[in-house]
Amino acid sequence: MTTLRPLHHALGDRVEDIPFTASDGTRLGLTRVAPADGSTDRPVVLILHGLTASADMFTLPETRNLVDVLLDAGYEPWLLDWRGSCRLPYNEGRVRYTFDDVALYDIPEAVSLIKERIEGRELLVVAHCIGAMCLSLSMAAGLVPGLSGVVAQGVFLTPKMSWKTRARLHFGGELLRSRFVNIPTDFKKVGMWSKHSLIFAEVSLGAECKDPNCQILHNDSWGVGGSLFEHDNLDDVTHDRLADLYGTVPMWILPHLRSIELAHTMMRYNDNDGRYDALPKNALDEAGSFGTPLMLLSGSDNRFWYDSNEICHDVLKRRYPEMDVRYVEVPGYGHLDAFIGRNAALDVFGHIVDFLDECRVPAADELHA
Ligand SMILES: [Zn+2]
Repeated sequence: MTTLRPLHHALGDRVEDIPFTASDGTRLGLTRVAPADGSTDRPVVLILHGLTASADMFTLPETRNLVDVLLDAGYEPWLLDWRGSCRLPYNEGRVRYTFDDVALYDIPEAVSLIKERIEGRELLVVAHCIGAMCLSLSMAAGLVPGLSGVVAQGVFLTPKMSWKTRARLHFGGELLRSRFVNIPTDFKKVGMWSKHSLIFAEVSLGAECKDPNCQILHNDSWGVGGSLFEHDNLDDVTHDRLADLYGTVPMWILPHLRSIELAHTMMRYNDNDGRYDALPKNALDEAGSFGTPLMLLSGSDNRFWYDSNEICHDVLKRRYPEMDVRYVEVPGYGHLDAFIGRNAALDVFGHIVDFLDECRVPAADELHA
């Protein structure tokens, strides 16, 4: 029996855990946050985390978080813990999944379940990192029709990493994969003399902060290079619980990540398994069919995905001039801090709410016409 670690939040009894098992038998997490006023007619925002993160990154009790802001702006937030969540045990196991499974099962089936529950209310999505990449593949496959608007943070259809991360992913990643099944983020679970302590020793090189869990995320992104946040943007409480927020990285996911990065586009991985035929080989080729307003968001100092989303915007505009797509860059932000930063409510979430509000304007205009 798969257990789901309880959500860490300060929302009291307004948090509803919705039992949700994907059709391939994988138990996932789905959480609805009820508005304090008890309203049941609000537009819904589904929020997707990145790989090894979880819904926890949107409900940080120590800061004004995305769920707080969406509630105050008149939305009903829903949070999906897809199979790459650290609230679930799959990243630590030997049963492998690829992003194809997330795009084919987790996201479309969560969207279907939510639509059943909300009966015709508007549904919008805010997605982070690899959650956004998987969403792009679901959208390209036509598996999540009828979304009123989509925000993708950090990366979406066109991933691009630094040359160092690329090299590690292609060569170092192969070495890592032969030695380890996964790389933990929590140093306490590693111990000084385990095989993993070598990775922590390596990522500490040149680090200004002494916290090993911070180093593996900030100084060297699990040993593949890059940096996942701007250090000064985190609240001290968040900084000290990074190991709760970001879990183990499974090495067996790297081949799919590598093929995506090599192509600089979101790709299906499983080519010889009929179950995945519903997914297109290359999501970018199907993006013209999205029919959903799209906001691509990135910190100006994202040192993991760099300018992937700016590139994505330019590529989409060139290929599909009619597409409703915009790029918003937040000065002084890296990657994760766009959601977990202590001032993200001031610096980032306003852009998200403005866009979501705007996505709903045409419907209001039609009513008044
Ligand atoms: Zn630190």
